[in-house]
Amino acid sequence: MRFLIVSFDGLRPDLVAPDLTPNLCRLQAQGITLSNHRTVYPSETRSAFPSLVTGSTTSRHGMVGNIYVDRSVTPSRYIDTADAVLLRKLDLESGGRLMSTQTLGEILASAGRSLAVLATNSPGTTRFFHHKAEDFGHVRLSGHFREACTPDDLLAEAEELVGPLPPKPPSTKPDKAGQDWITSAFLDVIWPKYRSDVTVLSYGEPDLSSHFHGTGAEVTRAIIAHCDRQFGRVLDWWEAEGRAEGVQIIAISDHGHITGHTQVSVVERLRDAGYRPGTAPAPDVDVVVVPGQVGALYLPDPSDERIARIVATITGEPWCGPVFTRAKNDIEGIALGSLGSHLVFIDHVRAPDVSFCFRANDSVDPFGLVGGTFYENSRRAGLGVHGGLHPRELVALGVVAGSAFPGQGAVSVVPSGICDFAPTILHLLEIAQPESMTGRVLTEVVEPGQKAAPESRSEAFDAGLGRFRQVLRRVQVGASTYIESGTAEW
Ligand SMILES: [Zn+2]
Repeated sequence: MRFLIVSFDGLRPDLVAPDLTPNLCRLQAQGITLSNHRTVYPSETRSAFPSLVTGSTTSRHGMVGNIYVDRSVTPSRYIDTADAVLLRKLDLESGGRLMSTQTLGEILASAGRSLAVLATNSPGTTRFFHHKAEDFGHVRLSGHFREACTPDDLLAEAEELVGPLPPKPPSTKPDKAGQDWITSAFLDVIWPKYRSDVTVLSYGEPDLSSHFHGTGAEVTRAIIAHCDRQFGRVLDWWEAEGRAEGVQIIAISDHGHITGHTQVSVVERLRDAGYRPGTAPAPDVDVVVVPGQVGALYLPDPSDERIARIVATITGEPWCGPVFTRAKNDIEGIALGSLGSHLVFIDHVRAPDVSFCFRANDSVDPFGLVGGTFYENSRRAGLGVHGGLHPRELVALGVVAGSAFPGQGAVSVVPSGICDFAPTILHLLEIAQPESMTGRVLTEVVEPGQKAAPESRSEAFDAGLGRFRQVLRRVQVGASTYIESGTAEW
């Protein structure tokens, strides 16, 4: 049995439809759709994909955001995990502890199996799918970035057969050539030559187009259709050959998107409130505001009192959504009004002192898509963002198909999440699952009808300060917990 995970970065499952994505619909007709499927918090690419390959929440793997402040060194430093070369350096410097848990690639390697990666995401994201591939002689190919590729001779062979690596287009242009290149590299080189036990084929779109043109924009819809056509080539191969060779297909996305409606500058607002904020550690900075759609504040002196003071400041702002600080007890954070960061599974040593979401609501954007939010970036309103706890950010695509998943055209309503795929794959390959994994084996799709569907249990937590009120909703299945939403209002 082999596995092919095909990922569509940032694809909202409500955009999967016969006119736009006929090939994903063709897969759904042959497999099982996970209709109650979610990503982790923060709903950012470089937290979610580490969760895919570690089968665990952010708190376990430690990639707490696309960007974080590393306080394990003095002075503390700024880490942008889009940089594949930096990630390798950090892993070597830390004795292999860039991620705090074992990854699928390492586990497969110890069992004598292999993981291959082909991706058009950023160099850092591409490395995250299998950050130690070079240590095991495994394959990792980027559709654009040589520094993320290994081994060199395979890249040379792929370029000879498929053509030279296409340059990354500017962010405002949809990335078509990269998707075509990795699809061909899989079909013409990796599958025929390596037959890896598990392959990740990751399309970096429609995320980029959603960020720069809007989630429902024509440009974005066109790149979704383009990625779906590339996936159609894969599906043709699967129906002709792959399925008979025991290949299971898992189609996923890593998060959704909602639409920014009102721009804010957290740095300016904190400066107005009397702080000395900066976007990177510096001697005169008393609060580091990590840029991005998931609010992350790091204090040089993170005393309980200072954390409480800054939480009191931001919860008085109209753009402030759910807020998390380190736990005071089972529910609350140390700052009044905040919930404990353990409730959203970000309680890792690298986590910010204050993590917050921008306030989101169920407004409908110009394309008719539900989900609007305050946002912080230099782009205009009306474009896609993600990172927070709105249900449309957390909801993700999940479709499984192949002989291991009996039930053609079925829909599973049992809650599931991105952490569940690694345990499920290991279970089917009869490889022991490490205790670090917080995900579960998706027994309801692996053995449907064998047992009663697992039961789920909903729970809610709230906290408030003054007029500010926040509610976090989660659902549990067995020992796994999925985050459904976080809202705040006053
Ligand atoms: Zn993403």
